[in-house]
This record gives sequence, structure tokens and C-alpha cells, in this order.
Amino acid sequence: MKPPEKRESVYNMFTDALLYFIVMIFALLIGSFLNVLIFRLPRGESIIRPGSHCTSCNHKLMTKDLLPLFSYAWLRGRCRYCGVRISRRYPLVEILTAVFFLRVFLENGLSLETAIGCIFLSVLTVAAVSDMEKGIIPDLITCPGIIAGLFLSYFTIGIKSSLMGALAFSGLYILAAVISRGGMGGGDIKLAGLIGAFTGIQGALLVFAISALLGGIWALFLLLRRKAGPETEISFGPFLALAATMVWFYEQEIVSFYWYIIGQAY
Ligand SMILES: [Zn+2]
Repeated sequence: MKPPEKRESVYNMFTDALLYFIVMIFALLIGSFLNVLIFRLPRGESIIRPGSHCTSCNHKLMTKDLLPLFSYAWLRGRCRYCGVRISRRYPLVEILTAVFFLRVFLENGLSLETAIGCIFLSVLTVAAVSDMEKGIIPDLITCPGIIAGLFLSYFTIGIKSSLMGALAFSGLYILAAVISRGGMGGGDIKLAGLIGAFTGIQGALLVFAISALLGGIWALFLLLRRKAGPETEISFGPFLALAATMVWFYEQEIVSFYWYIIGQAY
């Protein structure tokens, strides 16, 4: 007979595995819903009506067509009814959501922090992908997001830090928009406010610096590859969202690294 500790640890492994599995399934379903938001919000469509349908042949989609990842794999990326290719964005957003949720859950377990992290990362995903596909960051995602960030900060960074982060970050972009006469769009300004509301003032400053760096590197890359001229407009939302995701997961590490570099310089 096995010693009791051993049985205990096997039991724990089993319940942990089950919990991760449940989180993953939940995340895939949320990812599937985020795909609906990404398609419908920039087009001004209702997110409830009509029900899910193929965007090419308009055929109503059944549950068997809507299982996250599995339907896409089973149908080999094509509509069951008209055979049109389904965008790879659908499975990618579902996988990304699952990775984010599992990562947040591993760090914080079943807690309010986990719920808040999942909400923030979901909103960032919708904003970034909508901006990449349509050049629009929908108000219907950023405005409720700002309010949610301010309220939820009561349980994390505190309302004062949240409000300051939101005002400072969006204020900085409003200033940039005035100086560059419209170089920074309203969608970017609201997204910056949302990020500040969730990360607070220190996080917002980090996101500001990192997104500018990432955007700059990308613009340089496009210029060198002659894919863009000095006048080409680049959607900035994805860089903001990417930087905010990095800061959400690695704020402490980034701050330590920054001070390490400063220390080396002197
Ligand atoms: Zn179809």
C-alpha cells in the first residue's frame, strides 16, 4: 500500500490537471466570443443578433460548427456549407486567449486578480486585432473597459493610481495628437486611458515607453524593406496592446532590468 502523502500528491495532481483543463475550455469559449466582437464591433453590427452565420454564404452555423479550435481543425479551415476559407485569425485568437488565461491562472489561482487579468487581456486582444484588421479600436470595447478598469482597481492598485494612470496616459496622447495634428487617433487615446486605468501610473509610463520603442522598430523595419514611406499610417493599437501585455506579466522584471542597465551605465 502506498504511503498516504503519495496518494495525496497524486490526488492533487489530478485536481490541478482538471482545473487547468476547465480553465482552458473556458478560455477557448471566451476566445470564440472575442472573435465575434472583433468581427462585429468595427462594422457596427449587434453582437447578439443575428446568430452566428458564415460571413460569406450567410448559412446559419450550428453548435458543431462553432466548437473553438476543434471545428476549425475538423473542417480544415473551410465553411461546411460553401467551402470558403475561414480566417486563421479565429483559431489564433482562441489559442492566444487560452495561453493568456492559463498564464494568469498559474500565477494567481482562483482569485479576483485572475478575473481582472483575464478581462484586461481580453479587451487588449479585441482592440489590437480590430485595429490590425479594420484600423478601428471600437469605442464599445474601450469605453466600458476604462470604467471597468477604474472600478476594479479598488481591489488591486487602488482607485487613485488607476485614475492617475488613465488621465496621464490619455493626456499624453491628446497632447501628441494636438502637436502632430491628428497623428494619434481617438481610438489610441481611449486605449491609452484604458491601459492606464488597469496598470496605474508606473505601468502606464512603461507601456508608453515600450510601445513607442516597438512601434519605432516596426516603422524602421518597414522603411528599410521599402514597404512603407514616411507618410504611411501605421496602426498603433497593436503596439500599445503588446506593450501592455508585457507590462501586465513582467512589470517587476522590466523595472529591475531598467535599473540594472542604469546601474551599468555609471
Ligand atoms: Zn459559408
